[in-house]
Amino acid sequence: MNTAPISVDIIIAGGGMVGSMLAAALGQLGADGGANAPSVCLVDAQVPPSFDPGSNPTYDLRVSALNHASQNMLKNVGAWSHILSRRSCPFVSMCVWNEAQDAKTLFNAADIGEQQMGHIVENRVIQLALHDQIKQAGNVVIACPDSLQDLRIDSNQVVATLGSGKEITARLIVGADGANSLVRKQANIPITRDTYDQHALVANVQLAGLDARAGVRTTASAHGNMTWQRFVPSGAQALLPLADDRASIVWYHSADEVARLVELADAEFIQELSDTFPTELGKVESVAQRGSFPLAKAHAEQYVKHRVALVGDAAHTVHPLAGQGVNLGMLDAAVLFDVLVNCMEKQQDYADIRHLRKYQRARRGENSLMINILDGFYRAFNTQPEPIAALRDSSMQLVDNQKMIKQAVMRYATGSGGSLPKLALP
Ligand SMILES: Cc1cc2nc3c(=O)[nH]c(=O)nc-3n(C[C@H](O)[C@H](O)[C@H](O)COP(=O)(O)OP(=O)(O)OC[C@H]3O[C@@H](n4cnc5c(N)ncnc54)[C@H](O)[C@@H]3O)c2cc1C
Repeated sequence: MNTAPISVDIIIAGGGMVGSMLAAALGQLGADGGANAPSVCLVDAQVPPSFDPGSNPTYDLRVSALNHASQNMLKNVGAWSHILSRRSCPFVSMCVWNEAQDAKTLFNAADIGEQQMGHIVENRVIQLALHDQIKQAGNVVIACPDSLQDLRIDSNQVVATLGSGKEITARLIVGADGANSLVRKQANIPITRDTYDQHALVANVQLAGLDARAGVRTTASAHGNMTWQRFVPSGAQALLPLADDRASIVWYHSADEVARLVELADAEFIQELSDTFPTELGKVESVAQRGSFPLAKAHAEQYVKHRVALVGDAAHTVHPLAGQGVNLGMLDAAVLFDVLVNCMEKQQDYADIRHLRKYQRARRGENSLMINILDGFYRAFNTQPEPIAALRDSSMQLVDNQKMIKQAVMRYATGSGGSLPKLALP
């Protein structure tokens, strides 16, 4: 199909959680009556499945642990209420331990004077909430379902060709198109990638209610709004609490074992959980969905080129054991937003590589640090020989015993510490 090119200021390729966050933030500029708000086209290949709270919608397999910084961003762009009106579950504590260790390391929101450490939210709920907000903005159009097929980057503009045949020109393209980013490939940005020899099995389970488990919990839900992770030699086993006594469990194991577990009949899978997971899981009544994900760490060598910026998984992927992936991506979006607004206020060309580099400088080092920290955790917990195992266990004890260290770790993990971009502040 040949149609006349459409012209906008910014194309965001990828309307997942991170691309939608940036679009919603830019949409606020239009909503605030800004006559100079940039025109934005958000392109995504997949329509997120609808969610009608009145119809007891099925659970999304993919969920995210949103930290305080991400929650603040969602509040600041007006999307948080759209999440609360759908479905979410606060978690008030987090417990981490190693099978061979006697003591557990417990983090409580109260330790840092907070009521919760974050919320577990289904990915599609986050995406839909942001899309609700974007639809109210006069300066953002959503092209969905449609996909970026080709990209030409000239010195004064980019030209994107979509699957529908539309051609869109813009001053800037933001690649928020995930780990296999086409924007990154078309911009010839190299990436270093290492796969882990572990896969993650994710399952959504229904836990037995409190009555069936009398005396086990002191709180009003089967999981006590606690997220936990136990490390065993084959990998970690984790639980993220969901509403209605449900939970998302993550089971890290070899690719072969994960493939076997995914194929089991529900009753057999529940039996495996009961035999293998710690008693903290409680009784699993049913399992709704199961899926598996290969795991890798990856980092783009550059986040920006002239007229191009990468955010979220398009720029980096981390091991999911600390649930940080989308939180890092949200911070990318917030920092890039700051850089763009700053340039707009000074009437500078925000797509100029000299300005975009400010975003890269602010984020690439931070993300690199997190990739390495998570890689270090992965290696430490998959290492049995002394002295690394001894060092790991004594470090966990130190964190548990020393209040100040514990508070510092918690502030970092919950996104309440360090210097945050404006959009991520309360
Ligand atoms: C097992 C597992 C558990 C995880 N748990 C957590 C957690 O608890 N907390 C956390 O913070 N992170 C978690 N993560 C990581 C998190 O899911 C990712 O970091 C996050 O999804 C990245 O978001 P994104 O928007 O950058 O990319 P994506 O979610 O990959 O979104 C990319 C979007 O781009 C679209 N797209 C792709 N190509 C095109 C194209 N050519 N044209 C148009 N659209 C396109 C796709 O349709 C998609 O909507 C987990 C990851 C795994 C594997």
